[in-house]
Amino acid sequence: EQPFERAQLQTLPLEVAERIAAGEVIERPASVVKELLENALDAGAHELRIEIRGGGLRMIRVTDDGYGIPEHELEAVCQRHTTSKIRTFEDLSALHTFGFRGEALASIATIAEITILSRTVEAEQQDDEQAAFWITLRGNEMIQRGRRARLHGTTITVRDLFYNVPARLSFMRGARTENSHILQLVRKYAAGYPATRFTLILDEHLALQTSGSGSVVEALTELYHLSLKELLSPIELSDGAHYRLYGYLGNRILAQHNRQYLTLFVNGRLVNSRGLQEALEQGYRSLLPKGKHPLLVLHIEVPPPELDANIHPAKAEVQLVYEKEITRVLTQAVQSVLEHNPVAPEALHFP
Ligand code: ADP
Ligand code: MG
Repeated sequence: EQPFERAQLQTLPLEVAERIAAGEVIERPASVVKELLENALDAGAHELRIEIRGGGLRMIRVTDDGYGIPEHELEAVCQRHTTSKIRTFEDLSALHTFGFRGEALASIATIAEITILSRTVEAEQQDDEQAAFWITLRGNEMIQRGRRARLHGTTITVRDLFYNVPARLSFMRGARTENSHILQLVRKYAAGYPATRFTLILDEHLALQTSGSGSVVEALTELYHLSLKELLSPIELSDGAHYRLYGYLGNRILAQHNRQYLTLFVNGRLVNSRGLQEALEQGYRSLLPKGKHPLLVLHIEVPPPELDANIHPAKAEVQLVYEKEITRVLTQAVQSVLEHNPVAPEALHFP
């Protein structure tokens, strides 16, 4: 026999295809945390509690006080392509939620054990029995269901992540590394959503807590344990058409050795965009020496049709129609805020 003989074309069994697809959405425990906390924010949560054990491989639990999931949908939300957030492809160009693919819970359920406990706001108003319903799935098979008391909102518990994906499991770098990815992620969301109260517990230790007061400066103070007020400059700018920028820029004293504290949201979505990051750092050029990175929290808002959020499986990257123009605006705006110069408005208009 030839060593490289071609095997016959075959359709993969659904279970195998789904396990492969799940690995694309869920890279590591922090990816699960991201999906669950975005779902909680989409559900209008004001309070979000995240508990982690064993770097997230043993357990990840996210509890919210959002609008909940009705009992009859508990199983369906773990199916692939089920979502309450969009109806048509065209809805993608007017997106106002993090979620739109209906893939996260299905992916998690495929490669872990997941328990969803939920009670809707309506159920809470209608019956006084305080019943919330839960189901547990493992490898996407239902293994148990029941009811118990809780107030409105949802608790999702994920155990044994990657139990059936041995290759991925062997890439995990131990609880400390995974915890630090999770901490960095939750910190960024807590800084971006100061009106939501975030609590993160790592192996029973309180790792982070914000008050949910709505003040970014207060959230940053709580997150970084610094008295920051004098070290932050507010930035707010809009051309009334293509962009709005707002947030806080840390000064030179807050400079860091890495980009851990460079927190950037586009239309509310935490993004990891090289182009935008470099534009921001370019604005810091005269202030920071090479190899230093700023602490900042910046929101960029663009009209939804001018943004494509659907270019990355974990949605960590986005594409902007006017990326070139926006990077130019970013650099100039940052520069002038840091130099306390008023921004010359004509310089910041495009196309
Ligand atoms: P998507 O977020 O893209 O819709 P998910 O798989 O993340 O897909 O979630 C599927 C559905 O489950 C959501 O559309 C939503 O209706 C429901 N859901 C998930 N998490 C929550 C939550 N914490 N609170 C309320 N509903 C939720
Ligand atoms: Mg989601």
